[in-house]
Amino acid sequence: MPVQIMSAQEDIISPSEESLLDPRQARSFGEALTLWFKQAARDLPWRRQRDGYRALVSEAMLQQTQVDRVKEPFERFMTRFPDVLALADGSEEDVLALWQGLGYYRRARLLHAAAQVIRDQHHGVVPQDAATLLTLPGVGRYTAGAIASIVFGERAPIVDGNVARVFARFATRSGRPGDRDFDAWCWTLASSVALNVAEPGVVNEAIMELGATVCRKHDPDCAHCPVREACLARASGETALYPEVRVRATRTTMHHHVLVCIRRTTSVSAPEVLLVQRPEKGLWARMWQPPSLESKKELMSGTVTSRFALRREPLDLQRIEHRTTHRDIIFHVTRPDVARMTEFSEADLLTALGSPVSRWHLADRLDELGLSNPHRRMIDVAVSESTDQS
Ligand code: SF4
Repeated sequence: MPVQIMSAQEDIISPSEESLLDPRQARSFGEALTLWFKQAARDLPWRRQRDGYRALVSEAMLQQTQVDRVKEPFERFMTRFPDVLALADGSEEDVLALWQGLGYYRRARLLHAAAQVIRDQHHGVVPQDAATLLTLPGVGRYTAGAIASIVFGERAPIVDGNVARVFARFATRSGRPGDRDFDAWCWTLASSVALNVAEPGVVNEAIMELGATVCRKHDPDCAHCPVREACLARASGETALYPEVRVRATRTTMHHHVLVCIRRTTSVSAPEVLLVQRPEKGLWARMWQPPSLESKKELMSGTVTSRFALRREPLDLQRIEHRTTHRDIIFHVTRPDVARMTEFSEADLLTALGSPVSRWHLADRLDELGLSNPHRRMIDVAVSESTDQS
């Protein structure tokens, strides 16, 4: 049952941009959401048992990744790294391997670094207050507020995309997430709510949950919203206008020419794939991939042959289109046109690519390394094609 926000006559909200700044109204808003959340909250792995470490991991995974894609990797990560010390002492390679499927691998490195700071500077105990949490690598105002309020009950505000959408619609506030004025307004409102409700952690999580499940970006389910009676956007039928949409920066297209080299040391042994490590910075930093050439324009096959130092043109395997936040990547996947790997000069290839860190790795044990999803997929295709031919 949806909950009316008007719990008592003196608490009736007179909706306006600033209504949630009024302590009584912030309290009414929070009470309605608390009641709703206690019966509507989704069962999520990180909610079953609350502690600072589990919250730190789940918040890192949930940044820019949908809840459904985080559930399984979260459980896998917790099995391998059950506490902050296990994570701090783990290798970066293991951490990246367990991050597979989540993307944005920089978050994994920062989480690993945060665990090491907690081990070295906080006696292995996750800090409980937002101010100290903010000093950890990769922890921003939102994550610090989420952990401090939801796990430890601090009156710390949080604002993410879901919270901003609920606030913007509730008060029909103009502006876009990412604009300084709009963001500052959201944080002020969130602070007012956190300061005035009985259970700030529950209310913070409830606002996020409302944005994720009811006050959705498209097609909000206002009929089942616990604060619908006081929502200005619902009253005016203008939910689609709030928050205003940010104009996206122009996307760039990149062409990645990839050479997948498969070998078997004997006719019955498992296939191995040649991998090189990506540079320290930029997209997929320090992750592994087959040897590649990256260009803003598609390269001619003769250019690809000479820049890979091959003796013959490589054979086409497949073309994969992949979207990241800022760019479209077209992978042109090839393999060396050789009958036996003895005709293939690994040394010439690596020299031509600037001698990156490289290794041969069993193709059925790629889970041990950090590889992007498209690289993993193209290796699977190359392996099955080479199996068909053998
Ligand atoms: S009434 Fe509709 S628009 Fe308003 S907060 Fe609820 S779901 Fe969002």
